[in-house]
Amino acid sequence: MRLPIIAGNWKMHKTVRESVDFARQLMIAYAESPDRRVIVAPPFTSIYAVAAVLMGSGIHVAAQNLHDKQAGAFTGEISAAMLVDAGCEYAIVGHSERRALFGERDDVINRKLRAAISFDLRPIFCIGETLDEREAGRTFTVVERQIKEGLNNFTADDIKPIVIAYEPVWAIGTGRTATPEQAQEVHAYIRAVMGKIYGDSLAGLLHVIYGGSVNPGTIGGLMAQPDIDGALVGGASLDVESFVKIIQF
Ligand code: PEP
Repeated sequence: MRLPIIAGNWKMHKTVRESVDFARQLMIAYAESPDRRVIVAPPFTSIYAVAAVLMGSGIHVAAQNLHDKQAGAFTGEISAAMLVDAGCEYAIVGHSERRALFGERDDVINRKLRAAISFDLRPIFCIGETLDEREAGRTFTVVERQIKEGLNNFTADDIKPIVIAYEPVWAIGTGRTATPEQAQEVHAYIRAVMGKIYGDSLAGLLHVIYGGSVNPGTIGGLMAQPDIDGALVGGASLDVESFVKIIQF
């Protein structure tokens, strides 16, 4: 039984005050439920304050990125240890915006995933194809490469805390959600690839969540699919009312 995970990625939105207000409203609107895992990923500046508000609420905090080194002369960067210290339990790694806008390649993502698990920070590992790749019939090849290179040298124990987020790039922030069938097809493939590498029983326990323009109207159809275990939500997670509707799909 895989507990549904609904994670909100706030990207570069919300001041500290706005983040704290959101966290308080979320706690009021959403009573902790044993059949959901809810995560919010505020910007770095709000993590500590949001984690303090949400402590004991059953709502978890994620970072949107991290650096792979523990400490040192890396101006502007933030380590896994710092994120844990600030109250994070999860970290988004390899988001397509990081890949496309900040040049993160699979080897960098591999090191970030390693850094996260070394500090018991559970990675939300994002993979997904661009529109060109989909139209060229390369979706499966691309996600398989991202999995194999991102998880290069990872053992079965290493992958247990990882959540995989399938986020087709063409669906992110475009209002164009993949259909439940399109998403299910890729989720099943991801689970099969993980099964081949790590064994079917471990792959059966793995969370594979979907991201890409999820909203209150689309979440139900997606969650009805057997291999979709939750959602990573961008735009629709910025408003408490729509985020709660998604959580309560
Ligand atoms: C995301 O940024 O991970 C995302 C899925 O964004 P949106 O829901 O806005 O497409």
